[in-house]
Amino acid sequence: IVSGRKVGKLFGDFRALTDVSIDVAEGEVVCIIGPSGSGKTTFLRCINQLERIDNGALWLDGELVGFRLEGERLHPLPDGEIARQRRKTGMVFQRFNLFPHMTALQNVSEGPVQVLGESRAKATERARALLTRVGLGDKTDSFPKDLSGGQQQRTAIARALAMNPKVMLFDEPTSALDPELVGEVLAVMRDLAREGMTMIVVTHELGFAREVADRVVFMDQGRVVETGPAHALMDTPQEKRTRDFLRSVT
Ligand code: ATP
Repeated sequence: IVSGRKVGKLFGDFRALTDVSIDVAEGEVVCIIGPSGSGKTTFLRCINQLERIDNGALWLDGELVGFRLEGERLHPLPDGEIARQRRKTGMVFQRFNLFPHMTALQNVSEGPVQVLGESRAKATERARALLTRVGLGDKTDSFPKDLSGGQQQRTAIARALAMNPKVMLFDEPTSALDPELVGEVLAVMRDLAREGMTMIVVTHELGFAREVADRVVFMDQGRVVETGPAHALMDTPQEKRTRDFLRSVT
């Protein structure tokens, strides 16, 4: 459902991504690991078009991301089309980015009402169900400032799910949390994975990657160094750089 072919991204002269090729099938959970600055976040941002790629091609749900092909030439899509494509992804950031002046319920129901045109009654009912699903059925009327980091992040997950995305993108969703709150967020993500959600997860939580990921991608210096089934990649990495990284963090 997501496919990258030799994706390249430049920031000025700096090459943040070089020839990144990745395939993610429907229902698959792929974790991206690697040292700081290796391009993991940038790759997620390219999938949901917070960044535009400079080389190669990305497909999402059968469509070329950000461009249309006419003859041999690629033309950038107009803003409306980009917005439509972006709605196929749900992104969860390191920082929770909730609307501070809205309750948890409003945070989750607002997108469906404003963007998908759902009735407020229906969106509210779904938001309540989604908050219950992430274990926050009793916090629907709380404001973000009255929620713990873990509760805010679970609200952010519910908010992303409310838009019915085809793929969920997680960018280090637990790295800003106090250690004792990491588990509750990972548990919600584990449940989502079990329910068959397609997920791409940038994470430093190697235990989560080993347990939940179907495949793990190891990136370094903007390139995919190695990719494989979670256990194979983490127990018997083929590349020295992967071995060195895994040794350095465990
Ligand atoms: P981390 O684990 O620290 O988040 P990462 O693997 O996600 O790292 P990226 O955030 O994708 O890495 O960054 C890759 C490289 O691109 C870094 O060297 C970063 O400084 C650079 N970079 C990212 N965004 C920009 C930008 N908007 N302008 C210039 N350089 C950028």
